[in-house]
Formats: sequence, structure tokens, C-alpha cells
Amino acid sequence: MTKYNPYDNFIAVLDEAAGVAGIPLSEYVTFKYPERELKVSIPVKMDDGEIKVFEGFRVQHSTTRGPAKGGIRFHHEVNLDEVRALSAWMTFKCAVSNIPYGGGKGGVICNPKILSLRELENLTRGYITKIAPIIGPDKDIPAPDVGSTPQMMDWMMDTYSMIKGAPQPAVVTGKSLEVDGSQGRNEATGRGVCYVALEMLKNLNMSAEGAKIVVQGFGNVGSISAELLYNEGAKVLAVSNSQGGIYVEEGIDMPKLLKNYAKTKDLYKSCEQPYKKVTNAELLEIPCDILIPSALENQITVENAEKINTKFIIEGANGPTNSEADAILFKRGIPVIPDILANSGGVIVSYFEWVQNLQAFYWEEDEVNAKLKKQIVRAFNEVYKTAEQFNTSMRIAAYIVALKRLCAARKLRG
Ligand code: NAD
Repeated sequence: MTKYNPYDNFIAVLDEAAGVAGIPLSEYVTFKYPERELKVSIPVKMDDGEIKVFEGFRVQHSTTRGPAKGGIRFHHEVNLDEVRALSAWMTFKCAVSNIPYGGGKGGVICNPKILSLRELENLTRGYITKIAPIIGPDKDIPAPDVGSTPQMMDWMMDTYSMIKGAPQPAVVTGKSLEVDGSQGRNEATGRGVCYVALEMLKNLNMSAEGAKIVVQGFGNVGSISAELLYNEGAKVLAVSNSQGGIYVEEGIDMPKLLKNYAKTKDLYKSCEQPYKKVTNAELLEIPCDILIPSALENQITVENAEKINTKFIIEGANGPTNSEADAILFKRGIPVIPDILANSGGVIVSYFEWVQNLQAFYWEEDEVNAKLKKQIVRAFNEVYKTAEQFNTSMRIAAYIVALKRLCAARKLRG
């Protein structure tokens, strides 16, 4: 059996979008190939005195519309194919939200959960030292991704500043507030999901008041999306984490759940209302108005796409719906607001962080949130109209919007 290669999946969606929009291959062929790939080895002296050599990558898919931009994944299963696909998705995510960046991504093969703080710091600093020649505030700006934290971004900024001999706050985003991070960055992805949900409801002539929400994943993206939609009057029926989910037919008391969950990290111990336990698979099939998968990739597949019972889906996670499921959902008339649009709030506020770093002038949280809303709502409406114009899915429409911008920039630059 051939191994699933996420970069092949990216190429398939790209070709389909170009075909629907009638863009000839010669105009977009450049975007099939990453501009630059770097593979590095990072020796780290472990706490037991042994030297362990870790492997890392940085891929710059495109710098056509600006410096490369994208997170660094610290995960034991990360590999070059995955990083290559993630970097290409960043190119399209930045283009669809119309922020002046290309796309990049990095990865380090490790399990950060089993490293001591000292080992993790040395690995992080070693990785940045090795990729330093190709990154920089005007070349490529890393950020957090799965397995990396604001503290690690702070170490990255510090290492790069030592190499340059001067503070370089704009070299990475997602930093702690105390070291040039941005207000609102932590909540930005969930807030973006909420703005997109409200806009879609408006287009469907539905109200947020009483809208039934189901959220898979109760981490940064899932819990913040659920909380903000609850604050808009929505009824959160079910949420889950890796252990499984809770289902409360009359709606979850979110403030109480969040308060308890912060202490226990256990949904079952945190919910004070009578609830029904559900598996993650069952949760996805609960009848609702908005389904928000915000955990992992490949959750909605040919196995369950026929059983999904929602008015629309918002992809909080990257890649939760696979392409076969996409086709089934499109046929069933269930719109999927794709990841490159729906979860772009994080990179949009990363862009604001970089702008604030470069100008050394910092904004209040209200200002950050207002600018985020304007940017993501505009992107949403462009994609929505494009989907109607070409009678296609919102995923293909998002790629068309991004591809047109990329091709125009490519053509003008020559
Ligand atoms: P997180 O680690 O904060 O939360 C992940 C959540 O998913 C946790 O509640 C975890 O228990 C749950 N989970 C893990 N395995 C699961 C499973 N098998 N079934 C159900 N739930 C499971 O991560 P996050 O930052 O919220 O990211 C979630 C997704 O959103 C990822 O795909 C990530 O790439 C994407 N994303 C995040 C951001 C961001 O700013 N945090 C931005 C863009 C995209």
C-alpha cells in the first residue's frame, strides 16, 4: 500500500482549484515546488551525560508575497513530507487572509513531553542556531505549532538575538507578553473561528442565539471557540478531548466547565450537570447547527461523512476533513469552512505581533481584536462569494482566492 503523502493531497487540491478557475499550469506551476528545504542535525547533551542527535527541518514553500511564515512542530512523528505540506498550506493561508507573507514550516523529531526543561531548551536553541542562516525578520519568521510553546519562542528569539548581537524581537511570533508578544495572540485562533461562525450564520439567515454547537478538542482552539460562541448566546451541546466527550442536551454551562477544567483537566470531573458520555466518533454525529473539529487531522472521512448531521462545519484544526469526505459533504449540501480560512486568526495576529515588533509600538487588546475581525471577515466574504461564483466548495474557493493573489504577484515580479 502506498503511504499517504500530505503534499500529494495539497497538489491535488491546487490542481482542482486551478482547473475550476481556468488558471493555466504555466501560471501556477511554481507553487507546486517548495523554494527551499533545509535538514539539520542537532546534538544535545542529555541529563544523563549522553549526547543525542536530533533531526530537524525548515521548509520555505514560497516567498512570492513576502517573507516565509509558519510554525515549528516538535513531535516524534514529524517528517519532511508533512513539514513540506504544512509549509505549502501556510502559503495559501497567508494569501487567503491577504497578509504579506509567504509560507514556511519547521519540525524537530522529538517527544517534548519526555524531555527535561534543560534538554528542551538546549534542543530549541540548537535548532535555531542551525537554521539561523535562512531565517530572520525579513526572510522567514517561525511561530509555535504542535508541541511548541511561548517559552520556546522566547528561547528562539533570544538565541537569534545572541547570534546577531542585538535584540531581534521580530524574528519569531507567539512570544510571551513580557518579551514582545502581542495582546490577543493566545485567543486569536478561537476568536477567528467565532467571527467566521457569526458571519456564516448571518449568510444563512440564522441567529447565534440558541445555535447548537458541537466541538471536538478542548485545547486552545476548541475551548476558546466554544467559550466565545457561548458568550454570543449559542448552546454548546457537546465538547471532547482525547479521553472522549460530554453531551448535555440542554446545553453546557461553559463558565462552570471552563473554571473546573482549568484545575482538573478532566471533562468528566469538571461538568456539574448530568451528561451523557460520548466517544469522539459519536460526538461528530450529534445533530447540531455548527460542528467545529478542533483536535486532529483526518476525523471526518468516508466512514462517517454520510452520518454528519450539521448545518455547516468549521475546521478549527488543520486537515480534519479528508478529500473523499469533502466530496460527500458537498453533495449533501453541508458547507465546510476550510482550515486555511477558518483557523487563520492565529497567523493574522502573529502578523500583528511582527508589525508591533518592527515598529516597537504596542496595541491594546481591543485594537488587535478589531483588526483581526476586519481581516478575517473580509477573507470569509471573498471566499463565500467565490464559492457561489464558481459553484464549488468553500475549500476550492479559498484556494482560488489565494492562487489568484499568488499568480498576480508572481506575474508582476516576473
Ligand atoms: P491543543 O494541544 O491546545 O488542544 C488539542 C485538543 O485536542 C486537546 O483538548 C486534546 O485533548 C484533544 N485531542 C487530542 N487527541 C484527540 C482525539 N483523538 N480526539 C479528540 N480530541 C483529541 O492544540 P490546539 O492549539 O488547540 O490545536 C488544535 C488544532 O488546531 C491542531 O490541528 C492545530 O494544528 C490547529 N491550529 C491551532 C492554532 C493555534 O493557534 N493554536 C492555529 C491554527 C491551527
